[in-house]
Amino acid sequence: MGTQSLKIFAESKIDSIPQLQTLPEEQRFAMRVVSRVLPFRVNQYVIDELIDWSRVPEDPIFQLTFPQKGMLSDANFDHMASLLRREASKAEIKAAAREIHTQLNPHPAGQKKNNVPMLAGTPLPGMQHKYRETLLFFPVQGQSCHSYCTFCFRWPQFVGNKSLRFASSDTDQLTGYLAQHPEITDLLFTGGDPMVMKAHSFAGYIDALLRPELEHLRNIRIGSKSLTFWPQRFVTDPDADDMLRAFERAVQAGKHVAFMAHVNHWRELDTDICRQAIARIRNTGAVIRSQAPLLRHINDDAKIWSKMWREQVKLGIVPYYMFVQRDTGARRYFELPLTRCYDIYRDAIQQVSGLSRTARGPSMSADPGKIEIQGVTEIAGEKVFVLRFIQARNPKLVQQPFFAKYDEHATWLKHLRPAFGQDHFPFELPDETEATNDSATNDADQIPAEWN
Ligand SMILES: *Cc1c(COP(=O)(O)O)cnc(C)c1O
Ligand code: SF4
Repeated sequence: MGTQSLKIFAESKIDSIPQLQTLPEEQRFAMRVVSRVLPFRVNQYVIDELIDWSRVPEDPIFQLTFPQKGMLSDANFDHMASLLRREASKAEIKAAAREIHTQLNPHPAGQKKNNVPMLAGTPLPGMQHKYRETLLFFPVQGQSCHSYCTFCFRWPQFVGNKSLRFASSDTDQLTGYLAQHPEITDLLFTGGDPMVMKAHSFAGYIDALLRPELEHLRNIRIGSKSLTFWPQRFVTDPDADDMLRAFERAVQAGKHVAFMAHVNHWRELDTDICRQAIARIRNTGAVIRSQAPLLRHINDDAKIWSKMWREQVKLGIVPYYMFVQRDTGARRYFELPLTRCYDIYRDAIQQVSGLSRTARGPSMSADPGKIEIQGVTEIAGEKVFVLRFIQARNPKLVQQPFFAKYDEHATWLKHLRPAFGQDHFPFELPDETEATNDSATNDADQIPAEWN
């Protein structure tokens, strides 16, 4: 197959996508309205190879990439629709969009204020250090994606409002911070999508991370949707080989390179070029792991997950996380009750062999940490959710079971109340949540306040 170039349609071009011409005008108008508020971007590969146009609008990949009316509240939708109908000015439309953004919880889980690391008294806004052993890095060249997902929790990165964004281009700040933090074993490149970067930019970061003084950094993770939204990145793009060589150098220098592939539906893995990309990435010695949120309209069916995990194991991909849709952006359209999330996870896990049961979840990435719903049961006559932290700001909470009153409507942590007449969860009591830093490798002065 020849080289396909990355042809992208953004919101102003939504009307020029040929396949949309067959849809009713009302639906096309609704897409225009929503795309004025939430990011829209789709490439030719997703349109031609992944979406099944005979099944639109129900097609899961269409739902994953094209704006849907239910993503906005009726009031917000009607407001934006009336502006478009009367051909309001660009400035007026933009101002209305910004006003709606503020209602959509742009920075869930306290990301912006609670996780920003400091180096020599300066905040480093292009990084997040929430969990002791893992640093998130947002390279400035990687703050868009090959296509945008409708459910995306990083949507403020893409709506052109700089005050809602974080990004960094500074290799010295990154390596300086890592050098001062021997407790960090994992660096996670994230975005946006770090794989939209040119290979030479990415290689620059990688080579800096391989310096001898950063020996404590064992694992380099790359969070990316490119494996399924633009597999050409690893096969036919002009710098595909250079990108793979950067992975290979890191592996050969002794790092574990984990390609954290975001895959929402098995259909995304079902093309020849995606299979080639998987093989080429695995040939570098990198391990591909997969994660995705559970979403209404896209993958809210145990059969989709069990088939996806089986397929991934067959292709050499390790299932890693099933997430609960976060409380941000178009949440209203995609969210599911926690009890339903748990049922889907349990049913999917029951249908696969142990090699697929490496997927943990359903997990909520909330302010105190990643909380997994382990089950629904009855203890001493009370129906409860059994919960545990998979990851926590306070490392001492990890893996400890705790309980919440069963609630059939709850969709997020904030809806839950402690069970058994308790008045707080373990992460809410200052005395007990205090971590003592007894690890000899921790430099207490360097650890963000919430761990001290
Ligand atoms: C999920 C996540 C990580 C990685 O956690 P692991 O459990 O090690 O995969 C790191 N930082 C943040 C902010 C996260 O949400
Ligand atoms: S690829 Fe990831 S960051 Fe980009 S739009 Fe999708 S979910 Fe968001």
